[in-house]
Amino acid sequence: MMEKLNGETCIICEQQKQNGFHLYTSFICIDCEREMVQTDTDHPLYKFYLQQLSKVSQKQILS
Ligand SMILES: [Zn+2]
Repeated sequence: MMEKLNGETCIICEQQKQNGFHLYTSFICIDCEREMVQTDTDHPLYKFYLQQLSKVSQKQILS
């Protein structure tokens, strides 16, 4: 796992990050995870996060 110098592409920010975790087959970076936790559910960004996350679970269902 440490050999991956470029990390993985985060499904939320769509950037290559080294640190994060896997949700189903997708990768969420630690920065986005932290942001999500801190974002108020009334905040517009929260909807964006949910939207990105729903893409993940849809992909999972279809595969
Ligand atoms: Zn991210």
